Formats: sequence, structure tokens, C-alpha cells
Amino acid sequence: MSEEIPYKIYLSEKEIPTNWYNIRADMKNKPAPLLNPGTLQPLTFEELTPIFCEELVKQELDNDTPWIPIPEEVRNFYKMYRPSPLVRAYCLEKALGTPAKIYYKFEGNNTSGSHKLNSAIAQAYYAKKQGLKGVTTETGAGQWGTALSMACAYFGLDCKVYMVKVSYEQKPFRREVMRTYGASVTPSPSMTTEIGRKINAEYPGTSGSLGCAISEAVEAALNLDGYRYELGSVLNQVLLHQTIIGLETKAALDKYNIVPDTIIGCAGGGSNLGGLVSPFLGEKIRGEKDYQIIAVEPASCPSLTRGVFAYDFCDTGHVCPLAKMYTLGSEFIPSANHAGGLRYHGMTPILSQAFHDGFMEARSVEQTQVFEAATQFARVEGILPAPESSHAIRVAIDEALKCKETGEAKTIVFGLTGTGYFDLKAYAAYNDGNMNDYIPTDEDLQASINKIPHFPGNLA
Ligand SMILES: *Cc1c(COP(=O)(O)O)cnc(C)c1O
Repeated sequence: MSEEIPYKIYLSEKEIPTNWYNIRADMKNKPAPLLNPGTLQPLTFEELTPIFCEELVKQELDNDTPWIPIPEEVRNFYKMYRPSPLVRAYCLEKALGTPAKIYYKFEGNNTSGSHKLNSAIAQAYYAKKQGLKGVTTETGAGQWGTALSMACAYFGLDCKVYMVKVSYEQKPFRREVMRTYGASVTPSPSMTTEIGRKINAEYPGTSGSLGCAISEAVEAALNLDGYRYELGSVLNQVLLHQTIIGLETKAALDKYNIVPDTIIGCAGGGSNLGGLVSPFLGEKIRGEKDYQIIAVEPASCPSLTRGVFAYDFCDTGHVCPLAKMYTLGSEFIPSANHAGGLRYHGMTPILSQAFHDGFMEARSVEQTQVFEAATQFARVEGILPAPESSHAIRVAIDEALKCKETGEAKTIVFGLTGTGYFDLKAYAAYNDGNMNDYIPTDEDLQASINKIPHFPGNLA
């Protein structure tokens, strides 16, 4: 029977979803609103539009509309690399000797190498539609910056990227991809913004952090006429755009009447996982179906498994709003960990609330185990996975091996968010036996958690 299911389930272009799904409409406990850190009041449309594009602010604040149309221009761009395949991991199943049926949704088949393009193209579209000249953003290892550069090139927008200095220097390849697509790339902290100059004065020689680059990009957008800031994860709007992943996954599974038992995704800021699971989580919240949903994070940056659920700053420079989320504290600096895209201290408010309400589980995994899974996967399935994605592979393999013990033929679906061609230094460290695991101590975590703002109703 199962042999009738192809190795790859492809949808046709006509089957690209016409709407994104806004899971907030179905959540009984809505994610908490973003707060103005000055007044501690929910941020309004008027306060947010100097920073973000108007249409994106509308999406950010919309807790009620379940389906939001995907503009035709965005759908046309999606056709360049979507629908993405849902792959039945027959080779991995065989190698593991498991009765489990494993599927993965592969989002790495575009030049940016990850799912981030799904939101980048939507955000660039709304900026263009508003008549803006350009956008600013930050990037860590460079996946988001690359995706936004591609999207801006397509719509003829200027793109200014603040790239964490250590990555700018050590990972020149993505930097050059961004420049090839026409973006200007500035190492952060820079001397081009007030916050950058302040951080450079306070910490001479600092190699920067994502939180610091966010602060600079926001300041730059506020000071430039005709520019807005765009963010690649965490926000409600980003998770909304990423539901294209889950909607296509569900459509592909439905074609063959496949019902997953377990859905797994890696979680940095939570956008790919939120996008993958939204249609399934919606059914679970509405009481129609039950699924096991697992978020996987690095043991070195364990927001869901060891953080607290509280209002916290989204960035180190504290220019961004307060978001209620699972957080390790905005001043938490994860140790050098190669899964660059998962090194964020917080988690999208939507998934934070769903996790808090018991709709989702979370696991943390150590880096060497992640690369062991990545290597095993690459050798049998052919794709060289991104280290971030390999967190999900690790737990998918663990769950499939449990099925081998119990004899259960569970259906496991996981998100394969991207490829690892720009992460070969990390692969080299693993291949050379030089990779270490680092798990922060309770004291390390408490020190940054203690710096989360205290006010009535928040940790008070
Ligand atoms: C950025 C990134 C992630 C993590 O981001 P989320 O917002 O948590 O999805 C995961 N995988 C890859 C390949 C990435 O580039």
C-alpha cells in the first residue's frame, strides 16, 4: 500500500495556496500584544507605522481574520520555487530500520537556501506597494539578509543590511550573495548609527550580536526618508507568511489521505515551525484532531525548555517593543554555536502562547548529536541539510527509533528548512572531531533572566 506514495509529492502551481492562514483567529488565548516599553501600553497602528510598512502592521495586529489573501504578485514570485516538495524519506526509514513513515517538507530549493524567502517576498511587496524607496534589516549568518536582498532586487527596492560583525568577517560568501543582489551590507556594530557608536564605545572590539544589529537597522529606518524596517522571524506577520509551508504540506498529505501523528520543526524565532504547524495546530485548538507537535531548539539557547514566559525586549539595544514570549533575557549571549539561525533569546509570541497552553512540546538537543543526524541524513537522502534544520532531523530520527522499539508505524512529518552549503566550517569541525557541546548553567541563565524588565504583571 504505502509503496503507492511517491518519493516526492508535488503540488501543481495552481495548487499554491491563495490565502495565508492566521492561526490567531482560532486561538482562545490570543498572543499578548506588543507593548510600548515607555508607557507599557499595547502598541498602536500609529506607533508602529513609522517602523514597519502599513499593510504589515495591519497583519501584525489582526487577531481575528482567519484567512488573509496572498497578493497575486507574491504568488507569482512563489511560482519560481514553490510549491516545495513533500518528500517521503524512504531511504532514511530503510537505514533506520523503522516501521515509522517519515516525511519532510523541503524549503531549501532557492538561492537563499531557506524558508525565509517566503516572508521576504511578502514584506518587500508591501514596501513597494506603499511607495517606499527601500528597507533596512539585520542578519546573523546571512540567510535572512540574502532572502530580503533577493526579494528587494525583484521589486526594485534598496536594501540595507546590518550584518553581525563576526559573520561579516568569517562568513564572506553570503555577504557577497547579498551584494550581488544589490544590497549594501554593513558590519554591526557600525559607526553609522548612534546605538552602534554607543555599543562600540562600551565594548571596544566587540564582534556584535543579532540583537545589536536589530537595534541599528531600526534606527537607520527611522532616520531615512522612505525606508522601513523588516524582520525575518518572531513577529506575527512573519509566521503568517510562513503558513504557506504548512498549507502546502497539508494539501500534499490530504492527496494521499495521510494523517500525521507527530510534526517536528526547529525553532529559532519560531517562524518556520509556526508556519509548518499552523493548519494542524488550528485543528488541534478547535478540537477537531490531535497531533503531537514538537519544537526543537539547541541546548545552548533553550528558550522554550529553560526560559520564562514574560514580557521582554526583542533586541539587545532595547529600541524594539516588548513582546510576551518564552525568553532567556534579551542580554543572553549564546556561546559560539554553529546553528546561527537558532541563536535567538526569545520565541514568537504565537508559539509561546500555544506552548504555554499545552498544545506543543519542546526538546533541546546538543550540537554534536545534531551533526550526527545531519550526516546520517545527508548520506541516505542526498540533501546536505542546514545545521538549523538538522535539529528537527535529530528529533525525527529519535522518534522513528522509538517506533522501532515499540513496533508502532507512526507518521512523522518534519520541516527541512534549508541547505548547509554555507555552513561547511561547522561540518569541518564535526568531521575533524573538534565540535563541542555547550549547555549554559542555571546561573548563566538566571543572570540574564534577572535582567528581564520587572513591572506590575510581569515577573512581579
Ligand atoms: C533562520 C533559519 C531557521 C530559524 O528561524 P525560525 O524563525 O525559527 O524559523 C531555521 N532554519 C534555517 C535554515 C534558517 O535559515
